[in-house]
Amino acid sequence: MAKDPALDDTAPKDMRTEDWRALLSPVEFAILRESATERPGTGRYLNEERAGAYHCAGCGHKLYDGAHKFHSGCGWPSFFQEVEADAITTYVDHSHGMTRTEMRCGSCDGHLGHIFPDAPQTPTGIRHCVNGYALLFVPEGEDPQEVLRDHRAAQ
Ligand SMILES: [Zn+2]
Repeated sequence: MAKDPALDDTAPKDMRTEDWRALLSPVEFAILRESATERPGTGRYLNEERAGAYHCAGCGHKLYDGAHKFHSGCGWPSFFQEVEADAITTYVDHSHGMTRTEMRCGSCDGHLGHIFPDAPQTPTGIRHCVNGYALLFVPEGEDPQEVLRDHRAAQ
């Protein structure tokens, strides 16, 4: 049985690379633990519009409220704010010859995506551009632990 910080008492910081690899799907592992980016338009939740919350697919930490999701047209799920201040951490990212603000999960430090100040149509003006495979959607009224358990079992 793989260690699972979302479902047992394993602390995210105690997870080694091999533990994450055993737990996550290949695409989740590539994004969350190796900072890969899914191709635009190919990730999950692009057109998800139900009420609910988006959790980290790695550790289960709640990251976004569905009410803060908007259609940016960029090809990745977009949010104009995180669910609470410590939900995510940000870093300056100089990769690929650009200077960008990288976002990672505030709990497991898994890579989520980047923040861009290009969303004047939203209340904050900023776009959290998130890889869909870094997220797990929990519809309103459903138990996050149950949804996570089903998700792990299905992959
Ligand atoms: Zn996490």
